[in-house]
Amino acid sequence: MNEAPQKLLDLEERIEVRVQDIRASRDWWPCRRGCDRCCRQLAQPPELSLQEWARIDEAVAALPAPIRAEIEQKIDRLLVQIAENRVNLPVICPYLDENEGACRIYEARPIACRTYGFFVDRDGNDYCQIIENEVSSRIDTATDIIWGNAESIRHEIERVCGELIPFDVHYQRTNSL
Ligand code: SF4
Repeated sequence: MNEAPQKLLDLEERIEVRVQDIRASRDWWPCRRGCDRCCRQLAQPPELSLQEWARIDEAVAALPAPIRAEIEQKIDRLLVQIAENRVNLPVICPYLDENEGACRIYEARPIACRTYGFFVDRDGNDYCQIIENEVSSRIDTATDIIWGNAESIRHEIERVCGELIPFDVHYQRTNSL
């Protein structure tokens, strides 16, 4: 895989520091292989920067042919739904291995996936129900969590990686190359 642009890697490293800080000494934290709730409940088809799309395309291209074909089928179905303005919400991410509950492009997953559950909006409501339940039931190890700032990270993604490109626009461009 080509190396991602350094600024993207730097941003991801900063995110990882926050994520590890939150997870440290909280072995109850639910995000792990097999927990795919957020991947099954996307509010819309993915909308990512060009740099993130480029890395995902490379990761998909490196997968075994049968898995690639399965992902392409899911992408095609989603593109039809978008074109016909009848997207089934919530969206199941086409990169999810639905049997294993695992991301098939984990190392190339976008920043939105890396921050989900760890970075919250000012009102504190922009995270997973599983995490919310855990946090509210564990006053001993959850009260001192220093959450990341979701609004500022969204601005940072656009500043570092450029404008966000909707799922269908990306694939139309890719297929017209
Ligand atoms: S890219 Fe991977 S981590 Fe992100 S929603 Fe899709 S399956 Fe989940």
